[in-house]
Amino acid sequence: MKLTVVGTGYVGLVSGVCFADLGNEVICVDIDAAKIEGLKQGVMPIYERDLEEMSIRNHAAGRLSFTTDIAQGVREADVIFIAVGTPSLPGGQADLSQVETVARDIGRYINGYKIVVNNSTVPVGSQKLVKRIIRENMTEEVPFDVVSKPEFLREGSAVFDTMNADRIVIGSDSEKAAEIMTELHKPLSAPIMITSPESAEMIKYASNAFLATKISFINEIANICEQVGANVSEVARGMGMDQRISDKFLSAGLGFGGACFPKDTCALVEIARQAGCEMKTVKSAIEVNKKQRLKPVAYLEEKFESLQGIRVAIWGLAFKPNTDDMREAPSIDIIEALKQLGAEIQVYDPVAMDVAKKILDGVTFTDSPVKCAKDAQAVILVTEWQEFFSLDYLRIKSAMLAPYILYDGRNLLAKHNLVQVGFDYQGVGR
Ligand code: NAD
Repeated sequence: MKLTVVGTGYVGLVSGVCFADLGNEVICVDIDAAKIEGLKQGVMPIYERDLEEMSIRNHAAGRLSFTTDIAQGVREADVIFIAVGTPSLPGGQADLSQVETVARDIGRYINGYKIVVNNSTVPVGSQKLVKRIIRENMTEEVPFDVVSKPEFLREGSAVFDTMNADRIVIGSDSEKAAEIMTELHKPLSAPIMITSPESAEMIKYASNAFLATKISFINEIANICEQVGANVSEVARGMGMDQRISDKFLSAGLGFGGACFPKDTCALVEIARQAGCEMKTVKSAIEVNKKQRLKPVAYLEEKFESLQGIRVAIWGLAFKPNTDDMREAPSIDIIEALKQLGAEIQVYDPVAMDVAKKILDGVTFTDSPVKCAKDAQAVILVTEWQEFFSLDYLRIKSAMLAPYILYDGRNLLAKHNLVQVGFDYQGVGR
């Protein structure tokens, strides 16, 4: 099929590349001219496993093209995906301005039957909103359908998730559009669920809020474990063996971050409020998460009379491993809090350093875990990059200064071994 994806970020670019790899003709459109120019040259704007190779290969094969020309994108496609950002407004609700702009552009340039797919995470009612905007901006009367297709890929494994989706949810009020969308997604061999647009929109928020709540739940259990002498890793394993619970999203740590959970939980609270309901569980999950991020700071405050001039190493800046995305990363809050207390911060991340340099100031950037730990009295492991698992910890300790605090914010390391080496080791809930 002929597809256009508008917005070449984590979702749009990965979807575009994957659809091209499945044999479709895909045009990726973005307003960011530098991004589009880079993509034409094979330079990826984000880090995602396999993305570069697949993008370059499909581009060379003529199945994948990049442009800033939305008119071309709209005119040449049978199906147009909207995959632009929907960030939080100050009140927590989703900012739909980017989606609205694209809908206006689609209206302006539409020249025959098309399916417009809301792939961005949008509040309930957005399918109708996009439909109305397209119709209001049309210059010629043509039929079209708008469907909602929530995106479930995870950063860090986005290509794999797209190619091996658990399910495809298509919210459609048109049988024809549902059939074409089913056809398009058939090669993925994932179960396809057709729902109303409203249900599809709600499935996305409910799924993300549920997972976020699960994380906050286990983090609260971890905090109790610390007080009563239980080990949250054992508790989570024991809980996770119950198939009704499952072991996914049951790792205690410094909480969730990224471009989705923080904003989607806030948006759901707001959707609920506007519907005259109160989403108490999710509100609590958000509150727990904010506090959880600062646990290592509270720990260091207990250990030192003052953090003024204390050198602290931050290992891992991305909000999770295998991505360079730092949006809503816990590392940012931790670093800001430590800076306010007068600590000197050294940072390291295997992949996110370029992104971090644009966001963080007043910190020392280093290019290895050892250099990051140099002369630090404390290391805080914030992102569970595999690299941190297999380090020479004797070397790390000799680079550091006493009291050799190692705060393992993701319970990645074996406490016993580190204590033997001479670290003052602290995990979360164990
Ligand atoms: P992103 O910020 O990485 O990418 C959005 C892109 O849209 C940017 O490149 C931007 O330049 C472009 N853009 C903005 N306005 C435009 C316009 N008028 N025309 C063309 N391009 C335009 O965002 P993302 O992380 O890919 O998220 C996109 C949507 O998907 C959001 O609603 C998000 O909640 C949802 N989502 C994201 C993820 C994720 O893991 N990142 C997962 C599932 C769903």
